[in-house]
Amino acid sequence: GLRTGQQYVEGIRHRQHASIYVMGKRVTDVTTNLFLKPSVLAFKATFDAAFEEDTRDLARVYSPIVGEEVNRFNSLHTSPQDLVAKVKLLRKLSHKTGTCFQRCVGWDALNTLYIVTRRMADKGKKIYYDNFIKYVADVQKKDLALAGAMTDVKGVRTLRPSEQPNPDAYVRVVEERDDGIIVRGAKANITGIAVVDEVVVMPTRAMSENDAAYAISFAIPLDSPGVKIVVGRQLNDARRLEGGEVDGLPYMFNHEGLLILDDVFVPWERVFLYKEWKEAGVLVEIFSSYHRQGYAGCKSGLGDVIIGATHNLAKQIGVVDKSHVQEKLTEMVFLNETMYSAGLAASWEGRKLVDGPGGFWVNPMYANVTKHLVTRFPYEIAKLSHDIAGGLLGTAPSEFDLKNPEIKALIEKYLQGVPEFTAETRLRMIRLLENTSLSVAYLVESVHGAGSPQAQRISMQRLYDVDAAEKIAKFLAGMGNRPVDFRVEPHKKSEAEKT
Ligand code: SF4
Ligand code: FE
Repeated sequence: GLRTGQQYVEGIRHRQHASIYVMGKRVTDVTTNLFLKPSVLAFKATFDAAFEEDTRDLARVYSPIVGEEVNRFNSLHTSPQDLVAKVKLLRKLSHKTGTCFQRCVGWDALNTLYIVTRRMADKGKKIYYDNFIKYVADVQKKDLALAGAMTDVKGVRTLRPSEQPNPDAYVRVVEERDDGIIVRGAKANITGIAVVDEVVVMPTRAMSENDAAYAISFAIPLDSPGVKIVVGRQLNDARRLEGGEVDGLPYMFNHEGLLILDDVFVPWERVFLYKEWKEAGVLVEIFSSYHRQGYAGCKSGLGDVIIGATHNLAKQIGVVDKSHVQEKLTEMVFLNETMYSAGLAASWEGRKLVDGPGGFWVNPMYANVTKHLVTRFPYEIAKLSHDIAGGLLGTAPSEFDLKNPEIKALIEKYLQGVPEFTAETRLRMIRLLENTSLSVAYLVESVHGAGSPQAQRISMQRLYDVDAAEKIAKFLAGMGNRPVDFRVEPHKKSEAEKT
């Protein structure tokens, strides 16, 4: 069934073993911890969306696996419409949160594992698929909050997992038992990890036979013994601890963290791939394309927030009608809608890779194009917004100055622009723009999330058939052999589409 946001919060409130560390201290209740609370609230928005009028239809979908409506964040895609709904839902949720709401990685992991395990089943190895379908049914019925964990800490980047001086630089199985396996290793930069019920773990790269112990996928509850989480820091994060309501706290935030698996037991029924080294490369391709498509939604939604804040700040200082300001705003709109359009193309041009109640995949070329635009355009949008907002964005006084009776009246006098606005409205909008346009969710995450820029360039290069394009050009130039085969297409099939 569908859980409300409050039910999600209650669910993660008291966990037995979860060892979560923030700034060197163990946190027992993430829902009241000032550092993590903004993350809980952003995650919570993905549950509330299923009950709010404007997002209700997008955020719910019928699941044939459990025979009832489930939260879309735990659903499997069966059509291009599902993929379009994903992008639209993410854009909407950025409007409600102003940050990354952290639930998409687990969702993409489910859709990836559906395809990978189904394919193994079609080849005759059915156990993974059976395990996985049981798991998805459980996740959907309980409406669990999932994180997805792919990126290993990687040690020496040029060496394969089995060649590393530290054998635990990639997550691996260290013991096989009758009832399950013991896993060890660490996953880095895991979005939302401290505020979820469970985490789905996947391999992060293609593997060779020697790497078999590293080619594993499984799911564990966050409070499994041996799981340790170290939450990472972000710019301005200590503002959450100040007790104000303008400088840092009015918005929600995401977090990333290091997930350490210190000899964690995983029962067999929660193992979705075991030493299947041949499947690891394709799994990564399927997952990364899903997540690259999704960025069209959440980043364009944040772009809307930034465009809106910039427009308002231009009004507050009386420059909104200047032609260069209008031109810059239009440029921001163009950049923003370009990212979104690419994500829609990746959705509509997707195709079904395997049978059954899931398996609809994105178009990998357009998914990579989407993500590659996202590595650039948010920086350009942010720059234009900073240009219009003015230097106060970097120098504004604290909300506590505005509250200090000794200087309050002076700050009100000197921070005000056009008289319909106040110093406080200016400060509020400045802080919104600062906390969104300079955030990890909008900048660093846009570069490195779902793979760094070079990963997309390699994918695009592989997916484009430059020889086919040359044949087309040669024909038009009168150089090629005739008759020309007009079936030539400049796009190649991806590995996932071939196998
Ligand atoms: Fe979802 Fe975007 Fe956050 Fe990834 S970055 S988890 S797609 S909101
Ligand atoms: Fe991400």
